[in-house]
Amino acid sequence: MLIVMTANATDAEVAGVVRAITELGFRAHPMAGATRTAIGITENAGAVDPARFTNMPGVAEAIAVSKPYKLITLECRAERTVVKIGDATIGDGGLALIAGPCAIESREQAFAIAESVRRSGARFFRGGAFKPRSSPYAFAGLGEEALKIMAEIRERFDLKIVTEALDEAGLELVERYADMIQIGARNMQNFSLLRRAGRSGRPVLLKRGMAATLEEWLLAAEYILAEGNDQVVLCERGVRTFSQHARNTLDLAAVPAVRRISHLPVIVDASHGTGKNYLVTPLARAAVAAGADGLMIEVHNQPERALSDGAQALGLEEYEQMVHAVRAIHEIIA
Ligand code: PEP
Ligand code: MN
Repeated sequence: MLIVMTANATDAEVAGVVRAITELGFRAHPMAGATRTAIGITENAGAVDPARFTNMPGVAEAIAVSKPYKLITLECRAERTVVKIGDATIGDGGLALIAGPCAIESREQAFAIAESVRRSGARFFRGGAFKPRSSPYAFAGLGEEALKIMAEIRERFDLKIVTEALDEAGLELVERYADMIQIGARNMQNFSLLRRAGRSGRPVLLKRGMAATLEEWLLAAEYILAEGNDQVVLCERGVRTFSQHARNTLDLAAVPAVRRISHLPVIVDASHGTGKNYLVTPLARAAVAAGADGLMIEVHNQPERALSDGAQALGLEEYEQMVHAVRAIHEIIA
């Protein structure tokens, strides 16, 4: 159930509806918009009787929600969510660039890449501290040491730090150092981790699971919003198919499909989405043309020496050239 308030409903009237929802033992999620406030109801076991609300002062209508998600929808919030970290934004109509290495390998490597991507216009720096690796013997990241390096990078280059938390204990640590918490594809349905991210004060970058439907992905975001955190960015990163020419099949149709349903920003990771250096720039260009709010791109100063995902890393100059191309495309479609 979604309670839509009239355009001129007062704060007291909104509070009255919130109180009525709470008294029923449910949870109220007021979402203030530019023209009106909508209040989502969650934690109700069955259908909620709309008559309980329709006659309350300030209420325009009570809408039964037929889809399993509520808070992420455009019905709930007609204005698009803008995720803000200081003066850096995702979802405000600009093109957000999140760039950096797959993993932080050393201070020198991370600083060289950060300096370069900042110069090419990235406002967000990505770097893995805790890496989910298929093999238990592969390089799994420098852990807290990597977080410390990235905290230095934030100060030195005025970049916002995005890094993955693999579990709840890791999230505790990541939120102390980073600006944005990444939930990886492998954890998209780790519901306790999603709930914990929903209780964090940090924005969350939610990757699509490698075999997740659009609905499952949106429901994963709903978990985060249901806990009170509406600063969520969705990230398409490719899904598994029979295709063998790329690591994953980048599902660019997901971009307009998400935007049709949800107010949340959606970005595209063209690196994990393709797995191959030569595919990254063409697919990044296509993602921007499809309406993505931003890109996540893996960049390395020495791709051939990278400890993880070297095959899909762009070199520093390749990244700079990609930025020129995607900016030009973004300007045309904006
Ligand atoms: C990553 O971005 O570092 C990563 C591991 O991506 P994904 O979760 O999409 O595989
Ligand atoms: Mn990677």
